[in-house]
Amino acid sequence: MSDLILFWHRRDLRISDNTGLAAARQRTQKVVGVFCLDPNILERDDVAPVRVTYMIGCLQQLQQRYAQVGSQLLILQGEPREAIPALATALSAKAVFWNWDVEPYSQVRDRDIIESLKEKGIQVLEENWDQILHSPDDIFTGSNQPYTVFTPFWRNWSSKPKAAPAETLKNVEGLSEQELQTAKQASAIALPTAKDLGFSWENGLVIEPGEAAAGERLEQFCHRAIEEYKEQRNFPAYDGTSQLSAALKFGAIGIRRVWAATVEAMENTRSDEAQTSIRAWQQELAWREFYQHAMYHFPELEQGAYRQQFKNFPYENNEEYFQAWCEGRTGYPIVDAAMRQMNNIGWMHNRCRMIVANFLTKDLLIDPRLGEKYFYQRLIDGDLSANNGGWQWSASSGMDPKPIRIFNPASQAQKFDPEGEYIREWLPELRSFDTEELLSGNISKRDRAAVDYPNPIVDHKIQQRQFKVIYQQQKEL
Ligand code: FAD
Repeated sequence: MSDLILFWHRRDLRISDNTGLAAARQRTQKVVGVFCLDPNILERDDVAPVRVTYMIGCLQQLQQRYAQVGSQLLILQGEPREAIPALATALSAKAVFWNWDVEPYSQVRDRDIIESLKEKGIQVLEENWDQILHSPDDIFTGSNQPYTVFTPFWRNWSSKPKAAPAETLKNVEGLSEQELQTAKQASAIALPTAKDLGFSWENGLVIEPGEAAAGERLEQFCHRAIEEYKEQRNFPAYDGTSQLSAALKFGAIGIRRVWAATVEAMENTRSDEAQTSIRAWQQELAWREFYQHAMYHFPELEQGAYRQQFKNFPYENNEEYFQAWCEGRTGYPIVDAAMRQMNNIGWMHNRCRMIVANFLTKDLLIDPRLGEKYFYQRLIDGDLSANNGGWQWSASSGMDPKPIRIFNPASQAQKFDPEGEYIREWLPELRSFDTEELLSGNISKRDRAAVDYPNPIVDHKIQQRQFKVIYQQQKEL
């Protein structure tokens, strides 16, 4: 009889191109998946119902994938420090394998679990990276330090050879009926719905969950849109980006497969423009890794600003302004359209994420951590490292050599939504206004009142001046 290896899935909800799972299969034929619904994560106050709904959809599909290859995915609910070792002991598993994560909570939890498993004589697969193309310990500066600036990171990271996709799990042996009973006694449960877990999301998913859908999305994107990415990526009314962020967050797709698809796209074109576009998309994948490496090396980023000037920045944190921003009622059409997009579908275009984050911190003088949390409570792709990195970049508090970057909402709208299509889509009350009015925000008080659209809550010119004054004072402290 083969030894049993339990494979603990966390943010790698797939059986293809999964490095830890492939390593388990190399050691034994009997590989069984397990996923633990962790109250330390699910009971926090920043969980987005849309994200849980997407995750449960991925788990449903993962269960089917395991069944197709002859095994099972077990579901546990409870503190993983207890649940994982208890299940492994009950099933006399030889080993528990999983892929590593950069997040501070995971790092601490995993070390505890390794200790507990080793005490029980159960083997583990240590330091196996899967969600990123390079380990955070492989990309260092010439003086052996982690990078804190993206451009040299990108140069180094992109010059390194990338691994090919890992073998898809196949021909495995699952648990016997009797072992399944044992697993149930050791607390394995049926997969609950998001509602069972207390998360209600009525608006449907704009991004289909699961490995198959993520694979199709990648194929479609790399077939054509990737060649125009550089041109189209900044226009929120246009479907010019991959929308793979949720799949990458939960690992419904493997990053090596994604990279291989970009290399193939590059080989399939001779056009310089297309190649530049493909390179631009590869660079976004590198941003994702840059932020993950940063979180791994500087876990304090989770708590707040990286740059000294912003550690005690005297944000005003006006409660009414914050509410207006959350609801998409600031009176600045491009900002409000973006916030309503996220509130409605759980996803927001990258250009708009930058605009609203900049507006919250530089115009409303509100602490980026409040915005970061609100995003995390709403986004289908909410990811600690990317969200934190994006907020710190927008607030100018992070690892970014440019000191301050202030966006003018009207110029942003004029440049990136020139026909006002995006604004009209998400602010139906403004549909009948002229494009010029929508973009500049020059709409009279009377016209705003007539369609119940608010007046601007602040004056951009005054606020950005105020921000600069405070910033200067902080620098001189
Ligand atoms: P594409 O343009 O197709 O990019 C491909 C992939 O690269 C994305 O799926 C994503 O995994 C990665 N990526 C792209 N841009 C970035 C970036 N700037 N930083 C890190 N990774 C990137 N992304 C998240 O995945 N989760 C978040 O919680 C998140 N919060 C953000 C908050 C702010 C304030 C900002 C400015 C950006 C945030 N981003 C976040 C990054 C980016 O907005 C999204 O990854 C992107 O909009 C997702 O759409 P896409 O999959 O079509 O991206």
